Amino acid sequence: MSTQTETAAGAARKRRPLTAAEKHGVLAMPPLDYTKEVARQTAALYEKVAHHIPAIEWPVHAPYVYWINRLKKERGAVILAHNYQTPEIFHCVADIRGDSLQLAREATLVDEEIIVQCGVHFMAETSKLLNPDKTVLIPDLRAGCSLAESITGADVRLLRERYPGVPIVTYVNTSAEVKAESDICCTSSNAVRVVESFDSDTVLLIPDEFLAQNVARQTSKKILTWKGHCEVHERFTAEELLAYREADPGLQIIAHPECPPDVVKIADYTGSTSGMIEFARRRQPGARVLLVTECSMASNIEQEAKGVRFIKPCNLCPHMKRITLPKILDSLIYMREEVVVDPAVAERARRAVERMVNLKTN
Ligand code: SF4
Repeated sequence: MSTQTETAAGAARKRRPLTAAEKHGVLAMPPLDYTKEVARQTAALYEKVAHHIPAIEWPVHAPYVYWINRLKKERGAVILAHNYQTPEIFHCVADIRGDSLQLAREATLVDEEIIVQCGVHFMAETSKLLNPDKTVLIPDLRAGCSLAESITGADVRLLRERYPGVPIVTYVNTSAEVKAESDICCTSSNAVRVVESFDSDTVLLIPDEFLAQNVARQTSKKILTWKGHCEVHERFTAEELLAYREADPGLQIIAHPECPPDVVKIADYTGSTSGMIEFARRRQPGARVLLVTECSMASNIEQEAKGVRFIKPCNLCPHMKRITLPKILDSLIYMREEVVVDPAVAERARRAVERMVNLKTN
């Protein structure tokens, strides 16, 4: 390379922000043996997932658990995990667990410089929006979401043209670009209250058609929506739930509001994943509860409501399952995959998220 080219490359490097790897450095991969030290240090954590992971499999997971917990301290990193993460992530390496609203709020309170988001891409983007100066990593950039991918910023601009003056409420399961075009965000737990915070008689609630239909039943406002669906919750049917209930009339059914309205109508309780956990916690020992949501949520909740018997006709979210212990360890070692949001988009998207967080709807 000529000196002139070297100088140009150096100048370009100076102009662009440092990557996470340049900023925090890269570490060597540790040995992943199941040593006596690893077994001793992870024994208490295994107790939390013994209902889910057979003892014979633990030596495969334990070295990752051990090194992730060690390196996150050395790196000054915090691990946020959504309720749909697998039990070994949720119980053994996560520092903060919750639904998307809880994770969005907690992301603003952490002191650590590095956030590792165990969830899907829009969640990591939300953490980045709320923490623009921090390094936000997602262990697999391909962890997407059928809802988030159902709509673009250009679609929202067209909706605004078509419905001038109608407030646009965007579910948090959307890209930063979509959030940037909306007036405010909402989650499944605060959607009704966010919609009702507007004076307008009509509100656009996008992109989840079923969430919008379920919200429409709880408000006098006219709700306009979009055709997006969660590929996990749209698969549950009223027929299968009625068959469970016929077999066991004492069964209590709890469902996520991303399910179709005829499923939600049958449920005894509908709410966000945190709301479902709270509902299950308040049941008496011996109660039988049918969980109409993602598979790992059903496994994780068992720890929260001991004595309750859970029936799980679960569907798996393939996007959430892209996050694994080996990929989390890679994130901490190589500082990847870094979540970057265009600053101009981030500024406008942040306003929509902050309006929701500041609305005190919960
Ligand atoms: S469970 Fe549904 S809404 Fe959540 S990430 Fe998966 S596809 Fe998206």
